[in-house]
Amino acid sequence: MSDRAPRGARAGALDTARAELVAYGRRMAGEGLAFGTAGNLSVRVGDVVAITPSGMPYDMVAPEDVCIVDLDGAKRAGRGAVSSEWPMHRAVYATTDAAAVVHTHSPEVVALSTSCAELPAVHYAIVGLGGPVRVAGYTRFGSDRLAEQASAALAGRTAAILQNHGAVTYGTTLAEAYERAGLLEWLAGTYRRARQHGVPRILTTDELDDVRAEMRRLRYGGRVS
Ligand SMILES: [Zn+2]
Repeated sequence: MSDRAPRGARAGALDTARAELVAYGRRMAGEGLAFGTAGNLSVRVGDVVAITPSGMPYDMVAPEDVCIVDLDGAKRAGRGAVSSEWPMHRAVYATTDAAAVVHTHSPEVVALSTSCAELPAVHYAIVGLGGPVRVAGYTRFGSDRLAEQASAALAGRTAAILQNHGAVTYGTTLAEAYERAGLLEWLAGTYRRARQHGVPRILTTDELDDVRAEMRRLRYGGRVS
C-alpha cells in the first residue's frame, strides 16, 4: 500500500476530491450537521472512493488523512482509518448513480427519526430529494444491515433517514450531496415547527408531480428553477 496516489488525470481528480472532502467536513461540523467526529463524506473517482477518516475531528483532517479505498473496501492510500460507515457508502455507490455520499447526524433529522416513519411533503422543495423521505429502521452503526436498510430506503430518493442515528444523502457532486443534507435538515425542522401549530397540511402526489413538471419546464426554458 502506498500513500501516494497513482499518477495522471485520476491522481489530479483524487487530490481534488480529498481537498473537497476536507473542506466539506469542516463545513459539516461548523454548520452543526454533525457533532465532534460524527458523520462522514465520500467521493467516487472511477473505481475508487475517497472517504473521510474515522475518529478525527474535522478541523484536524488534512487531505493526506482522507482514505482512498477500492470498491471492495481495500485501502490503497491515506493516513487515517477508513470510516466505520464504509459499508453504507459502498452500498449507495452500488445501488445508485451517486458520485458523492454525505452521512450526517443533523439534530432535526435525528429528532424526527425517533417518532416518524417518514418525513412527509410539508414543503414542495422535498421534490429535490425525490419526494417524502423514508426512515430506515434502527440498526447498529457500521453494520452491513444498516447499509442494506439505508440503500433500500433510498429507492427513488436521494436522501434517507436512519432511525435514532442520522441521514444519508447522495448526489452527482459533493456539493449537491451536501446541499441535499442541508435541505433535509431544513425540511425536518420546518415539519417540527408546523406540527407545533396543529396537524400540518401535506402536499399530495398530484401536487408534487405538478411541481416536478414546472421545474422541468423552467429548466428546458433555460431558466433556473
Ligand atoms: Zn453515523
